Amino acid sequence: MSFPALRQPNIIVQEKSKKIENEIQNVIVSLKNNKNLVVSSDAYHGILMGRNMFRCVFCRAEMELEFKFKDAHVNSQKHKKVLENYPHTEEHGENLIRKVDKISYYCTLCNVIVSNPFLIRHIGSEVHSQELQKAVTRALIYEPAK
Ligand SMILES: [Zn+2]
Ligand SMILES: [Zn+2]
Repeated sequence: MSFPALRQPNIIVQEKSKKIENEIQNVIVSLKNNKNLVVSSDAYHGILMGRNMFRCVFCRAEMELEFKFKDAHVNSQKHKKVLENYPHTEEHGENLIRKVDKISYYCTLCNVIVSNPFLIRHIGSEVHSQELQKAVTRALIYEPAK
């Protein structure tokens, strides 16, 4: 038996779920040869997710593990300025490598830091090629239908 809405006994308390939501946002990276790659926004911005915090590789900043702090950081002028100093290197092309400092690189496709001696091996690795393939495929999906 159903009651009209207003007369319904007020027993059911809706519990708000504390789900952590991380809406995955993507960034399209256009290469010089007109090839497009699509990577997640976090990966593009060098945001690593640790066990209890987010870390920005390029600003060397740490944030509490809350998406709103991360989003605020990524959208900040400071971060945008800093990121401009770390462009994807031309020599590594579609592999989307940013040079962090003398001894380390950041792979945007894999969202990892790779130390200098292992960069070539990383680019040739199975994991990396799979990520590259995924980024290419995502770009195809993103392309407007003709
Ligand atoms: Zn940053
Ligand atoms: Zn990689």
